[in-house]
Amino acid sequence: MPRRKTRQIRVGDVIIGGDAPVSVQSMTSGYTHDVDQCVAEINTLAHAGADIVRVAVPEKKDTAVLAEIISQVNVPIVADVHFHFKRALEAIEAGVHKIRLNPGNIDDVEQVNAVIDACKSASIPIRIGVNEGSVVERKDKQKRQEELASFFSDRAHGHLLAMMIAKVEEYLEVFEARDFHDICLSAKLMDARLVIDIYEELSKRFDYPLHLGVTHAGPRETGSIRSISALGSLLSHGIGDTIRISYASDPVFEVEDGVELLNCLGLRERVGAELIACPSCGRIQVDLFSLVDNVRNQLQNDIDVPIKVAVMGCVVNGPGEAEGADVAVFAGDRRGIIYVQGERVANIPEDEILERLLKECKTLQEKVRSGETKLGDKAVTIVAPPDSAVTIEGQHQ
Ligand code: SF4
Repeated sequence: MPRRKTRQIRVGDVIIGGDAPVSVQSMTSGYTHDVDQCVAEINTLAHAGADIVRVAVPEKKDTAVLAEIISQVNVPIVADVHFHFKRALEAIEAGVHKIRLNPGNIDDVEQVNAVIDACKSASIPIRIGVNEGSVVERKDKQKRQEELASFFSDRAHGHLLAMMIAKVEEYLEVFEARDFHDICLSAKLMDARLVIDIYEELSKRFDYPLHLGVTHAGPRETGSIRSISALGSLLSHGIGDTIRISYASDPVFEVEDGVELLNCLGLRERVGAELIACPSCGRIQVDLFSLVDNVRNQLQNDIDVPIKVAVMGCVVNGPGEAEGADVAVFAGDRRGIIYVQGERVANIPEDEILERLLKECKTLQEKVRSGETKLGDKAVTIVAPPDSAVTIEGQHQ
């Protein structure tokens, strides 16, 4: 999918922008000054697929341990700074890879300038986020906002978009006045439609890389819909260089869902198995939901090559999905018929399905690793088995 061309910035060994892959970020939820716990959380997020992890540094005791934390982890670390510009200076001194700064939360433009100069010396970028506070007032602020408001008058909440774009312009004037362009932009709101609107505008007006996110999206159950609808729409139109999904929940879920979003859009190469499963219906012939849960958990633990695995509740769509998958099971009369690379390998009782399916996945993983076979190869075209107890009456719509 074509992506909008942006400048590039470097965050440790991760490139953001240009033709670099879209990266996934998250933020630790515990106290940064609790070094062991913070390191453990960063490593868990990295293991889940986070490319970059952000930590809050509200107090000096947080920046005081940053160097130690950075020495114990393998992902770039961003220091999230609000209110105290000295925390940013201390974080830069500690070797942090990027600063997230909200200029509106710092009292004095000279303090912002001090952070800009320190980042320039250390060759690290700054993410500028917008909010409703401001340290920098344009002389023509009122006039500019009125111009922008009329530009956005055809949109719901046009005044809010106008205010946020004006704010980004105000902040950028300060950074660009010091010839600082090592910048990433974000403008987060909680309304998915406004997030799409504001990022579309940012992408038209600026060539800085964009950090996408929906703020205060809520718990995962609802926040995932809110976030994925906005970020999926933007990414599918080529907008966005790095993403952070944020939930009122364990940040590992943010990373897992961000990675899966990029996988689904073809913006990230899948690591590990891809699970396809039917939604179940009145034709179901096994306890499908528990089987799918168990398969998913085991695949996450045991498989790291992108094997496509299908788990289907009956023969209606079982053969079709089995044909498209590398390893598949479809159920029939409390039994499971297992296919590997298009070849029928077993017809077993329901309570043996999980173990056999995983065994076949592991065997295939070994064969792929050794070069004996490759994923996607199929031996035969699959048709519904003649001994099936189910009559095929129709296919899914
Ligand atoms: Fe699953 Fe489709 Fe069979 Fe229903 S008809 S059990 S949804 S495969």
